[in-house]
Amino acid sequence: MRRFERDYPQARGGCQCGAVRFTISAGPADYGICHCRMCQRATGNAFAPLFQVPADRVTWHGTAREWASSNLAWRGFCPTCGTPLYYRDAEGIEIMAGCFTPDFRPEPLFETGAESRLGWLDHMTDRPRFETQAALVAHVTSYQSRED
Ligand SMILES: [Zn+2]
Ligand SMILES: [Zn+2]
Repeated sequence: MRRFERDYPQARGGCQCGAVRFTISAGPADYGICHCRMCQRATGNAFAPLFQVPADRVTWHGTAREWASSNLAWRGFCPTCGTPLYYRDAEGIEIMAGCFTPDFRPEPLFETGAESRLGWLDHMTDRPRFETQAALVAHVTSYQSRED
């Protein structure tokens, strides 16, 4: 499945509660967005941003729980907070890129699962944009872990 592989620096990340964290060593990776219906359901999202690397390049701290979403693949998630962390199959592991630390935000290079791609994604630049309201943030005590 590797299509547009290129070299990336070391990357880190984890789930929102911090119980499961990972480090990916620097090297080749393949980064795409998957719109397939299985990824939509697995993430509760419009698509899955998947950063694909050989599984032996990922060092885990904490243990994800896995669910076999098909006879070929498993979906990993944090057993404490439920954050979707990865897709895994015989070819490798694909990390959910939303879990990366804010200093690592590469741009996806291709899209898969086009048959289920939501049409409104074509209009993402048309809608009004708002930042999270400072007045609201002042009243929120986040229980998410630090990202550094
Ligand atoms: Zn967690
Ligand atoms: Zn998919």
